[in-house]
Formats: sequence, C-alpha cells, structure tokens
Amino acid sequence: MSSPRYYSEPVLTLLSRPSFAAPDHLAVTWIGESTDGERLAEFAGRLCYMSQHNPAKRQTRDYIENIKKQGHGSVLEHANYSILLEGVSRSLTHELVRHRAGFAYSQLSQRYVDESQASFVIPPAIVGDEALETTWRTQIEGAQATYVGLVAELMERYGWVADKVHRRKMAREAARAVLPNATETKIVVTANARAWRTMLELRSSEGAELEIRRVAIAVLRLLQREAPGFFSDFEIYVADDRREAARISYHKV
Ligand SMILES: Cc1cc2nc3c(=O)[nH]c(=O)nc-3n(C[C@H](O)[C@H](O)[C@H](O)COP(=O)(O)OP(=O)(O)OC[C@H]3O[C@@H](n4cnc5c(N)ncnc54)[C@H](O)[C@@H]3O)c2cc1C
Repeated sequence: MSSPRYYSEPVLTLLSRPSFAAPDHLAVTWIGESTDGERLAEFAGRLCYMSQHNPAKRQTRDYIENIKKQGHGSVLEHANYSILLEGVSRSLTHELVRHRAGFAYSQLSQRYVDESQASFVIPPAIVGDEALETTWRTQIEGAQATYVGLVAELMERYGWVADKVHRRKMAREAARAVLPNATETKIVVTANARAWRTMLELRSSEGAELEIRRVAIAVLRLLQREAPGFFSDFEIYVADDRREAARISYHKV
C-alpha cells in the first residue's frame, strides 16, 4: 500500500454561474459594471415594481446593496453558483450539509468508492507541527490498513452473494466504519446567493470549526470575485487566533 496523499488546503472549482438572458420586452436600463447573476437579481427586483427604467439611476451593485440593506434578500435566490470542493474532510461535509435552505449536494459515496487509496485532510491546528503530524499520520495509516484488510475479509465472508457490485458495497459500507473523520471527500455544492450568504456568515465567523472556516473564507473570496454585489459587505480579517475570519454588515438578508 502506498502512502496516502495529505491535503493541507481545500481545492475549489467553480462549476456553474448564472447565465442571464435579458428579455427585450422588459428592458432594464443597466448602469455600471455587473455580472449575469447580479443583473438577474436586479431584473427580478425591478419586476416587482416595474421600475425597469431605473428612475434613481442606480448602478447594479448599488441596487443590490440597497436590496441587502432593506432585507429583500429573496431576489438573491435567483442566482445560483455551483462549487466543487475537494481536499475537504468528511467531518467538514458533515457540518456543511446541515445548511439546507437553498442548497443542493452530491457527495462521493463511501459505499461505492474504494477508499483503500483515499487521501486525508490534516486538521488546520495540526498543520506545521512535525510531532503532532507524525502521531496523526500513524493513526491514519493504521486505520486505512485496517480498512483494506476488512474489505478483503468481508468480500470472502459474503462470497455467496452473486452480485459482485452488491458484495463490494456490503464490504465497503461496513469497513468504512474504521475510516477517520479526516478522510478526504469530494462534494458538489449548489446554492443561491442568499443561501451562500447565510452559510458563509455562520461558517466564516470566529466560532466556526477551523477547517470549515478556512473553506468558507475560500468560497467567500471566489464568490466575491464572481458577484461582488452579493458579497461585498463581508470583510475578511485576521482574528486573535491568527486565522482568517469574516464579518458581515447585513445579517441574514
Ligand atoms: C459554530 C457552529 C456550531 C455548531 N454546533 C452544532 C452542534 O453542536 N450540534 C448541531 O447539531 N449543530 C451545530 N451547528 C449547526 C447549526 O445548528 C445549524 O444546523 C447549521 O448552522 C445550519 O444552520 P441553519 O439551520 O440556519 O441553515 P439552513 O438549514 O440553511 O437554514 C437557513 C435558514 O432558513 C430557515 N429554516 C431552514 N429550515 C427551517 C425549518 N425547518 N423551519 C423553520 N425555518 C427554517 C431558518 O431561518 C434558517 O436559519 C453549529 C453551527 C455553527 C455555525
């Protein structure tokens, strides 16, 4: 068995962003720089009052700022962003999937996928401390070796199950019980801008667990680039614990 791969940072890939097709018969007077997601939200907001002619001459991002200030966040629900997360642990995703409203998830299955070559995520508090990392890696590699042995024995034990796919699933779903929370997983996460804001507010704060906080900061940076109007009121700072955290101006829009 070769040594597993260890992650000390998450890997994020943006999979999808809104594509807004502006209708000719309800043309909005757009002002200022904006992305499709932001224009979609402005379009939806303006439809409510049929104010497509933009009487206050607002730039799109100022319009969205006002939406957040007024707490009319439902128009942000039209803009969805999908992100692939890799190099994150099962303990992180266990916390992440508690965010329900406006979220969709698809995660690597430990019942179907062979974890004998799985990677692992070093807890942020351990990264960089050689002694702690060695202790931690010894446990991880022992657990993975046990997993490999259990799968082999369980495949034999259930040799009478004719369907090999089913037999493997039976073996893997039992053997995974010995895999640690640090086992690396992959998950596709789709959420609308309002839902991302709520999740990011909770998980980028100083009270959040360090790994999910690190992911929240990375997602926040990605989404701030994608759609500044939706996320510009988050401020990233270095907290007393010397880790990045974020604070927000408009709570739960
Ligand atoms: C620092 C921290 C520590 C935590 N510790 C624990 C812990 O020890 N144990 C634990 O079990 N969880 C813990 N959690 C998870 C927490 O309890 C929430 O499950 C998680 O933050 C998701 O929040 P949410 O339910 O607001 O999100 P979502 O499910 O995304 O919901 C967003 C919002 O929609 C509304 N909403 C959603 N569903 C309903 C509903 N069914 N009825 C009415 N309104 C609804 C609410 O206003 C809600 O805030 C922790 C979270 C954080 C950030």
